[in-house]
Amino acid sequence: MGSEAGDYGKTLKKHYRTLMKQCQVNLEKLDKEYPPSVEGFEELLKERGVSRRDFLLWTSAMTTALMLPSMFRPMVAKAAEKFNRIPVVWLHLAECTGCSEALLRSSYPGVDEILLDTISLEYHDTLMAAAGHQVEQNLEKALRDFPGKFICVIEGAIPVGMQGKYLRIGPNGKTGLEIAKEVTSKAAATICIGTCSAFGGVQAAKPNPTDAKGVADALGIKTINISGCPPSAANFTGTLIYYIMFGGLPALDSLGRPLWAYGKRIHDFCERRPHYDAGEFVDEWGDEGAKRSLCLYKVGCKGPYTYANCAKARFNDGISWPVMAGHGCMGCTEPNFWDTMAPFEKPIHEGTIGGGETTVDNLGIALTVGAVAGVAAHAGLTAVRHSDKNKADTSKKS
Ligand code: SF4
Repeated sequence: MGSEAGDYGKTLKKHYRTLMKQCQVNLEKLDKEYPPSVEGFEELLKERGVSRRDFLLWTSAMTTALMLPSMFRPMVAKAAEKFNRIPVVWLHLAECTGCSEALLRSSYPGVDEILLDTISLEYHDTLMAAAGHQVEQNLEKALRDFPGKFICVIEGAIPVGMQGKYLRIGPNGKTGLEIAKEVTSKAAATICIGTCSAFGGVQAAKPNPTDAKGVADALGIKTINISGCPPSAANFTGTLIYYIMFGGLPALDSLGRPLWAYGKRIHDFCERRPHYDAGEFVDEWGDEGAKRSLCLYKVGCKGPYTYANCAKARFNDGISWPVMAGHGCMGCTEPNFWDTMAPFEKPIHEGTIGGGETTVDNLGIALTVGAVAGVAAHAGLTAVRHSDKNKADTSKKS
């Protein structure tokens, strides 16, 4: 047993040494391939009110979030300093621009938001000053200047109905489908930001008249999916930091989402979880339970079926997240959540799917039903236990 543990320890150390070497080689390669940054990163942090100490705390948190040991902290710091060396082409397809808004707008920006400000955006439909034909020229130039080296970030679904004609962009009227095909084929990697580009989002909700799809599905390519409506800035910056460090993608789940950010359920880290386990629920909006911040399962929280780190990463400069603000999780990081998680203010077992004509059970979604049954049974059991306990307490008093 002792020698087995020793062997495991040795293998782990060897693995981390190899990773460290890979990281050093990759960072050096980056220095050679791309010009040095124009603006000093440290000065930028100072200018925005982020102290060295805050930055070091951020590197520790990011290293842990990426599931790396603390020896990688200096490497995470170096990768952050090189954040602006990776050229990015950011496409906007069928979407609301909410993901860009959420990522870039920040009143008191933390390190993640500052990193996003430093990103080397070669092309971004909604942020760049150019318009008309100049926009298309900018895109062509970016593809020419960085073939196979840039990261393509896509926000929005791709309508594929009528050969993509539901979405035309720019003065030459190219379809979103054509643009996405061309740009992704020349990119080093494609990151889908938000649930629309990852899985289709609201555009793909029933009846989906434009036959909108997520990018991987529409183009038949592999994408890294940072899902969420919108996703947290940290999940995007963390994925890019990993790419800068190792020159490759982090481990992904079966839906293409980085495991370090989407490996656990909302329910696993929720601050209201002790109330769920104790069978203490909000029964209706504004009741005593709501005032006491009890569990939101009975008013529709989908945290038990949703994989994401919202409870840890949070939003709006890390201030809050939906459950903390008093509304249940809507399951927005999951595929087809508009159809499968609605109605959003009722538990799934009380809900219907696809406009009300079919129940979850009728659709026979074995996994969902299994999970729902388990969660509902657990909720019921804890509620019964809780009421039994209350009865016992009452009888003791009387
Ligand atoms: Fe939190 Fe929702 Fe789970 Fe309740 S059901 S513990 S509110 S995630």
